[in-house]
Amino acid sequence: MRPDNLLYPAPRGLYCEKGDFYIDPIQPVERALITHGHADHARAGHAHVLATRETLDIMRIRYGDGFCGASQIAALGETITVNGVTVRFHPAGHVLGSAQIAVEADGTRIVVSGDYKRRPDRTCRAFEPVRCDVFITEATFGLPVFHHPDDGAEIARLLMSLRQFPERAHMVGAYALGKAQRVIALLRQQGYDEPIHIHGALAKLCEYYQSEGIDLGEIRPATLAGESRQDLAGAIVIGPPSAFADRWARRFAEPLAVFASGWMLIRQRAKQRGVELPLVISDHCDWAELTGTIREIAPAEVWVTHGREEALVRWCELQGIPARPLHLVGYDDEGE
Ligand SMILES: [Zn+2]
Repeated sequence: MRPDNLLYPAPRGLYCEKGDFYIDPIQPVERALITHGHADHARAGHAHVLATRETLDIMRIRYGDGFCGASQIAALGETITVNGVTVRFHPAGHVLGSAQIAVEADGTRIVVSGDYKRRPDRTCRAFEPVRCDVFITEATFGLPVFHHPDDGAEIARLLMSLRQFPERAHMVGAYALGKAQRVIALLRQQGYDEPIHIHGALAKLCEYYQSEGIDLGEIRPATLAGESRQDLAGAIVIGPPSAFADRWARRFAEPLAVFASGWMLIRQRAKQRGVELPLVISDHCDWAELTGTIREIAPAEVWVTHGREEALVRWCELQGIPARPLHLVGYDDEGE
């Protein structure tokens, strides 16, 4: 079977006609296979959802029990047949529960990697390279200029700042699913054992990570109810990036704005957001990891989804690997 007969971009997302399912559709559909719980990939309202147990749990936490009509758990590595098409979920190393989805029919295998990274991350399973005819990759940081530094060194800069400015509350902006828990786990890994304060928007997901055996140490709500302003001086407060733009953040002691994102490599972005301490910590691959992964998997063809498609497509062509951009819409690479 020709790969583009097996899976092709349709207005609502990547569609498998033979299996009559979508992968990460951006609008409600009859049957959806979901790679991971980030809001631009996992939307509510599908009639039937197939995803890992963790992704289904995360969707339930975010959208409530009625997030879909019926759900089915895909165990990692398990072979599942959907209308005659074989699908298999493999870890993607992006956030807890994240998976690549291998779609196979008539001897043709396409791997949809969703979002993925190659760095070690104690909060999720490591990316597993899967041999395939077509590898579908994102390209959020698909330019040679993107090089993500060592995440341990970035966290060490945060700890250094805490020692330097003990009178200031260190307000760390981090996305609620994945990044926040990873930042906390990295702090614990470096021996930081003070309580870490979190914005209410992170509470349920942090609790869920902990219930899945990921040790985040002592987490406290950053509500300040009945506490004096000074109480959080010298403490770490983690919240979604949006929370730091509003009055919530200004209640703390001399707030020092920190932001953990791959985008913090771009000084202009940090400046625009008023970030004093940008931490380059990403849940996506940088350029070397994207190209290294394609070399390792050595697919016959590469399709590139969202991000900076053109440079990666060009790189593949220079390596003699046919590649094309899919121009999928509706995926937000800011939310990394
Ligand atoms: Zn994602």
